[in-house]
Formats: sequence, C-alpha cells, structure tokens
Amino acid sequence: MMKGLKGKNALITGASSGIGQAIAIRLAQEGCNIAVNYRKSLEEAEDTEEIALQKACGQASECGVETLLVQGDVSKEDDILRMVNSVIDKFGSLDILINNAGIQTESASHEVPTDEFDRVIGVNLRGAYLCARETIKHLLEQQRSGVIINISSVHEVIPRPMYISYSISKGGMGNLTKTLALEYANRGIRVNAIAPGATITPINESWTDNPEQKAVVESHIPMGRAGTSEEMAAAAAFLASDEAAYITGQTLYIDGGLTLYADFRESWS
Ligand code: NAD
Repeated sequence: MMKGLKGKNALITGASSGIGQAIAIRLAQEGCNIAVNYRKSLEEAEDTEEIALQKACGQASECGVETLLVQGDVSKEDDILRMVNSVIDKFGSLDILINNAGIQTESASHEVPTDEFDRVIGVNLRGAYLCARETIKHLLEQQRSGVIINISSVHEVIPRPMYISYSISKGGMGNLTKTLALEYANRGIRVNAIAPGATITPINESWTDNPEQKAVVESHIPMGRAGTSEEMAAAAAFLASDEAAYITGQTLYIDGGLTLYADFRESWS
C-alpha cells in the first residue's frame, strides 16, 4: 500500500475506459474512495466500479471503499460544477483529482475545422483547467491539502503532425501543471502530470488491434513494446500518495524511452 491514500476521496475523469479506468481501480486498491466520471456509457462506468470493488475488497462484501458514478462532459462548465459538487456531497471532500478525459482527431493542420479544434481543446485542456479550478477552490475553502494529476502525453514535448489540437492541448497541459503547482505550492496542493507514451487503450484501436500496425508503432519505442494502462496507473497512484509528498510541478514521462530521441540508438556514421 502506498502511504497516505487510504480513505482519500478521488475523482477520475473519463474513468470508464483505458488509463482512467486503470487509475480508478488502482486508487480503490490503495484504499481511496473513487468517483468514476463517465460521459456516455453508464454500463462501462459500472464495470469500472465492479472491478475496482472486487480488487479492493477481494472476497469481502465491503472493505470501506466507497464509490460514486458521476455522469458529466468535462467540456461543459455546468457539468463540471455538478460533478464536483456531487463528489463533495457524497464523500464530504475531494482530495485527489485525476484529469484524464481526453480525445484526439486527425486532420492536416491547415484544414482542421474550427469546431473540431475547439472540441479537442475544450475537453483536453479547458476541461482539465476547470476541473482543477473547482477542486482547488474547494481545497482552499476547506483548508485541506490535495493533489491534482494531469494525464498529459509524450506530445507535451514531441510535436504531432496531423493532430495539432491534441499536440497543443498536451503542450498546454504541461504549463497548466507547472503554473498551478507554483501558485499553490505553499498551500498544500501538489500538481503533477504523467505523460504516457503509446499505451494499449481504446483511443489507439487503429493500431492496437492490427498486428502489423502495432509492430510499426513498437519499432519506434526503445523498449520495444507499448505500455499498459496499469503501468500508467501505478505512476499516478505514486504521485497521488504521500510517497511523492515533495514532488510538484513535474511531468513524469512513462514511455519506454520514446522521448529519448530514439533515432540516436545507432550511430549515424
Ligand atoms: P480512452 O479513449 O479509453 O479514454 C478517454 C476517456 O475520456 C474515455 O473514457 C472517454 O469516454 C472520456 N471522455 C472523452 N471525452 C470526454 C468528455 N467530454 N467528458 C468526460 N469524459 C470524456 O483512451 P486513453 O488512452 O485511456 O486516454 C486517457 C488519457 O490518456 C487521455 O487524456 C489521452 O490523451 C491520454 N494519453 C493516452 C495515450 C495512449 O497511448 N493511450 C498516450 C498519451 C496520453
């Protein structure tokens, strides 16, 4: 068990699949109460809840871990206010926010429709900021310490042609992380990010389900394989815990070496 997580209240956005689901499950295993945010599929959110409780409690019918399923679209301010309030109503407070919800769309940068650009920024960056803003407001009001973890991407630093809005959103997330970390460091609020590399989740169905495509993707990764959601969740749990009590404003790259300029693996001359 990681220090300081038992009994904490966590909200994970976009927690009905992929990395968000794995983080919700891992935090429940560490003894956190989890609020599982989902946008559309109640069924998938219920699956997350069921697996989380199974893993946290084992054979016992209950083990003190509470759960809440909370519908909400993080690109809508009203939904965020309702979501944060319902977590506080149910658990009494909110200690850990995981800004995980994210989308991506593919278009040449000179052709991206404005509404598509706004949609990606609205979910990935504006949504993350508004969730952080409401969480920080609550923590300051209650004079509580807290943790925010942004799920960024290697594209926080690696440019991504054909995905300009995604690239910008994750670049912005790096600054969001640092600015909030600096502004609230002396009030017990830590803000960090994890930056996954290629990870096997539904967002990557285009290559994870195609062995040839998967081999191409993995050939670019120094460690030779894609990451798993559980590997991302382990790092998120660490950063949320008191084991990381002196870490703030950092982005932790979890990418099998993808950000190490892999083309330099072999000598060029
Ligand atoms: P995913 O598609 O399984 O997860 C994204 C989740 O966000 C889904 O549950 C989706 O329902 C939710 N979501 C989308 N729009 C939403 C909205 N408006 N409101 C609330 N929820 C919304 O894919 P994933 O890979 O698990 O992605 C999770 C995060 O990890 C994203 O921020 C993504 O950018 C980031 N990431 C993923 C990878 C990867 O390779 N899988 C790499 C780097 C970063």
